[in-house]
Amino acid sequence: MRQCGLLCENARRRTSGGGFVMLSAFSAGVRIAGVEAGSVRKAMRLALAAALVALLSSCATGRNPLAKWERSRNFNERQPMLIVLHYTTEESAEKSLHTLKTANSKGPVGVHYLLGRDGRIYQLVKDGKRAWHAGPGRWGTITDVNSASIGIEIDNSGHDPFPDVQIDSLIVLLRDLTTRLRIPPTQVIGHEDMAPTRKIDPGPLFPWKRLFDAGFGVWPDESAGDPPPGFDPWLAMQAFGYPLEDRAAAVRAFHHRFRGMDGTELDEHDLRILYALTRPPQPEPAPPAAEPAGLQPQQENIVE
Ligand SMILES: [Zn+2]
Repeated sequence: MRQCGLLCENARRRTSGGGFVMLSAFSAGVRIAGVEAGSVRKAMRLALAAALVALLSSCATGRNPLAKWERSRNFNERQPMLIVLHYTTEESAEKSLHTLKTANSKGPVGVHYLLGRDGRIYQLVKDGKRAWHAGPGRWGTITDVNSASIGIEIDNSGHDPFPDVQIDSLIVLLRDLTTRLRIPPTQVIGHEDMAPTRKIDPGPLFPWKRLFDAGFGVWPDESAGDPPPGFDPWLAMQAFGYPLEDRAAAVRAFHHRFRGMDGTELDEHDLRILYALTRPPQPEPAPPAAEPAGLQPQQENIVE
């Protein structure tokens, strides 16, 4: 009843005084003497409709009718923090566009971008909206990947190499997204990374090393060497982001990504890769000694 009271109070603020009187009369069951019953009912219906419109419009603005609106300027739009790459397994970009606007055999699907084999970039969902591309799964601590990510579908059959022109376009798009949306360039993963038990895209043919050379994703540092005694590869897999509910599936996704091959068991080479990916940051070489400097201007410390 408390909620109803507040909602009615909000409706009162957003409708005319006459509307409020009529709504109150309706709510309290008050009889209005000397007025024809039919016209009273009609007036009440109109008032109720006006109140509902007012409440709905408050929902559309994102303002909670339960609360008094006190505007602050200290905010920005919510931003994605991850980019998830897929392949379509369809015959053409046109066919994929149709599917991504409707549904596949399992239900409605959507994605922010589709990359044609000719390098053309299509956008289907605005960057700030939650597209339905990732489904159940997890990457690190992110459990609702759709809410946290931009999805990019790449037009590919699933067993053909990715044309250079298509990867060139992907790199242009990644540069735009990571700059404009401030997504860390390392935060680019494959669909199979976050859902290894369900997915195998973008598969072992996807050129992750080329993407890394262009500044996106991650790649192991060849100079890291052998892992130290007691190194736990499963902890490393988990620390990197892989869900381990099905370890064999996670290793297959890992192999696709870092070795371009299938296989569900870790070997010595995998351990070196995992160590390189997860070892603590290495200290930078010391810079040459600088000339003594004078007093530096104090920089203001801005705390958000
Ligand atoms: Zn996918």
